[in-house]
Amino acid sequence: MSFQDTSKVALIGSATLGAIFAAGYYIGKNTSTYSSMDIFKSHDGAKDNLLVQYVLNHSMREHPALKKLRLRTMEDSSNSIMVACEQSQFMANLAKLVEAKKAIEIGVYTGYNALNVALALPEDGVLVACDVNEDYANIGKPFWQEAGVDHKIHLHVQPALQTLDDLIASGESGTFDFVFIDADKVNYDNYYEKSLQLVRKGGIIAIDNVLWRGKVVNPAHHDLDAQAIDKLNKKLHHDVRINLNMLTMGDGLTLAFKL
Ligand code: CA
Repeated sequence: MSFQDTSKVALIGSATLGAIFAAGYYIGKNTSTYSSMDIFKSHDGAKDNLLVQYVLNHSMREHPALKKLRLRTMEDSSNSIMVACEQSQFMANLAKLVEAKKAIEIGVYTGYNALNVALALPEDGVLVACDVNEDYANIGKPFWQEAGVDHKIHLHVQPALQTLDDLIASGESGTFDFVFIDADKVNYDNYYEKSLQLVRKGGIIAIDNVLWRGKVVNPAHHDLDAQAIDKLNKKLHHDVRINLNMLTMGDGLTLAFKL
């Protein structure tokens, strides 16, 4: 069974259990009865990992609209590409920590993370959301509206490199506080370089899937995506323009802090 198959099996179980036992908790909003059976979307194998489940069950605080979008996303056949929910919550907290007003998301899918980050932005904050597919984003839009933050999410449906180039051309270099890169892996280095130009000093670039389901340590399983990710990981390790962390959260999350 491949990693992908394992993920799908886990997620089918997650979706079913999530629908049956869905319950959540969001500080400052309405609360509902908490259930230890609430299965969140995390990384591969989390369903069977008691420690990961413990982490999720003792830290997740989803806005009600986020929770609904997660459960709706679980109904989509491509749900394995959804960001790990604890990672999304972490990034939203990071955006809050740096008092982000302007953010970029490269690779939106159904917009679970876009919603999370938008909730962390101030009322006049902006999230430039980049994706080539609007069908998936259309799944998320009703939940963005329900949360009252849809006005902050500016969706650009075209290749993200074009959107980033447009932002640079319009003089927005050095003005963004937070960027999340989670699109096609062969372009990761291009996304990183343009993002580094667009974020301010002290801004954060978060990069998803940097462990690529473990393939980065198994050359026999290297594909073009794994090669691109491994190459960027090696580059960032010695990049003097940033401070760096690589976390094992989700499928691997790199945080680059612009110096
Ligand atoms: Ca991802």
